[in-house]
Amino acid sequence: MSDEQARRETRAIRAGRGPNQGSVASPIWPSTAYELRDLDVSARMAVTPLATEFYARNGTPTVQAFADAVAQVEGAEAGIAFGSGMGAASTIVFALCSPGDRIVAQASMFSVTNQLLTRTCERFGIEVALVDAFDADALCAAVAEKPTQLVWCETPANPAMGIVDLEAVGGLMGPFTVVDSTMATPAVQNPHDHGVHLVFHSATKAIAGHNDALLGVVTGERELIDVLWGHHVVHGAVASPFDAFLGLRGLRTLHVRQRQACETAQVLAERLEAHPAVERVRYPGLASHPQHELAMRQMRSGGSIVVVDLAGGYEAGRAFVEQIELAIPAVSLGGPETLVTHPASMSAASLSPDERIAMGIPEGMLRISVGLEHADDVLADLVAAL
Ligand SMILES: *Cc1c(COP(=O)(O)O)cnc(C)c1O
Repeated sequence: MSDEQARRETRAIRAGRGPNQGSVASPIWPSTAYELRDLDVSARMAVTPLATEFYARNGTPTVQAFADAVAQVEGAEAGIAFGSGMGAASTIVFALCSPGDRIVAQASMFSVTNQLLTRTCERFGIEVALVDAFDADALCAAVAEKPTQLVWCETPANPAMGIVDLEAVGGLMGPFTVVDSTMATPAVQNPHDHGVHLVFHSATKAIAGHNDALLGVVTGERELIDVLWGHHVVHGAVASPFDAFLGLRGLRTLHVRQRQACETAQVLAERLEAHPAVERVRYPGLASHPQHELAMRQMRSGGSIVVVDLAGGYEAGRAFVEQIELAIPAVSLGGPETLVTHPASMSAASLSPDERIAMGIPEGMLRISVGLEHADDVLADLVAAL
């Protein structure tokens, strides 16, 4: 069986193995410089996208092994890794857009991407139209309205948990399309299958998966990835070989970790939905999610993130975070520890209350990144805190 024919679980194990001298574990190549004895080869490598044996800002074997492996799992031709998700995001924007260009972006999305697209892009004369991308017609209408260079979507949205129709994004004619698939992971959804050009992950989250590496990764057709590299090499948001090693190691177990976390998440979502202190549970795997059917068409499960809106607002959110013992209050997601984020006082604290409301972040919202503890223990902890 060729690696391309293998299932995603198998590709996650097989991918990203270079000429490693028989080492079963992928080696770490920390060198920033490589011997350049043949000057013809050197001259060629200096301009070859993602060359791995020239200078580490251009590429290194470990970082590229990680990016190639994610590309294989996503079913893409090529991949490129970055020192963080935001390093990837700013590279995509500034590699593909110039002053005067227009971006259509989802209104409700990860707050720092929102800052990049609104505040930073505005300073550079790039027009950004924010739309309710959970409404596929509104998204298509916004793109049809004016020439558009780039469409930026995120599904499920962090933290509002709305779902964007991947078929609709993949079917858009004209602009480059990007989907931030961090909240789903490649184990749960694969936007390239729907025709999306670029798939974005903050691999800091579930791909590396252990809360110990900062990484971004983008996959797509080789030509487009090469264009991103052209800006990446001057922008310099390069991944460390050590973090890329951890990313590749995380990818090996992504599917089993996600299967377990998603199973627990479904149980938690169902149980918390019935609790009187809970106003609403937002989880794509619940029949009560307004886009449940769409989610089940394009996702293999509801994912491992459960969002709970507490009836008591900001103070209830704060009290909950102070009460939990097993779950840890922290702002990341996708690791083995169950983490609870209170966006109003943590990840979205830099936004004004009005901006938070516009992004679908009420004051009593909690985002729970379900970890790998026993489901009954997590449930007991969360219910005790309620
Ligand atoms: C964390 C996150 C990012 C940013 O990634 P970093 O690795 O923290 O830079 C982007 N999008 C989503 C959905 C995220 O959760």
